Amino acid sequence: MDEKDKRKEQEKPLAAAVGTETQSATFPVRRRGLMLVLSSPSGAGKTTLAKALIARDGEIALSVSLTTRAPRPGEVDGKDYWFVSRESFERQRQEGALLEWAEVFGNLYGTPRGPVEARLSAGRDVLFDVDWQGARQLRHEAGGDVVSVFILPPSAAALRERLIGRGQDGPDVIAQRMARAGEEISHWGEYDYVIVNAEIEPSVWALEAILAAERRRRSRQIGLESFVERLRGGL
Ligand code: 5GP
Repeated sequence: MDEKDKRKEQEKPLAAAVGTETQSATFPVRRRGLMLVLSSPSGAGKTTLAKALIARDGEIALSVSLTTRAPRPGEVDGKDYWFVSRESFERQRQEGALLEWAEVFGNLYGTPRGPVEARLSAGRDVLFDVDWQGARQLRHEAGGDVVSVFILPPSAAALRERLIGRGQDGPDVIAQRMARAGEEISHWGEYDYVIVNAEIEPSVWALEAILAAERRRRSRQIGLESFVERLRGGL
């Protein structure tokens, strides 16, 4: 494959991602949607960071997962998760409706395929809050469309304090989550970026910076070649 063919190949939409027109008379370059995957041990602040990023950035939306776990106080069906029975989860998994899935703390979690594909093909970005198993499957499914970020707590003590402080889980579950944190953290090396979340604000800036840079990757900007050709033609 020569260079030109290679570039054409790069411009082809992966995962049916076509991209919206971010049109202007001089810069008609479309962008492929990207998949921003966040993982961390629970209590490292990932959900807070994800919500803050979504509130500030109009082009990224959260992929709402299916889960068989019970809702926590304040969690809303269809917003935080789709809370489903094991039977319903299994049926959707068998029908191929899930992009990835995993068992975490004895509950099943999975990403519905349809909404993600629709959003990517509209050139918008999708944020995933999944564990390391989910991140692996998404990389396998979507390769170059995935940008993965691992969030670390600043210390073990901070992690324990956050788990106790949020008051959502009893002592047994907290002990279980602390034990599992070590396993989750052991996968940090599989991620493109790592953020040590000591304070929320700098961590959100870091996520915004990662998004800004990744959106400008040459391979994600559809039509760059013809834009540059026209640009050069006018010189
Ligand atoms: P929690 O029950 O605290 O909301 O989530 C427990 C863990 O499951 C977290 O690490 C979270 O990232 C992960 N998780 C949530 N949704 C999904 C999903 O759709 N797929 C996978 N693989 N993990 C998920």
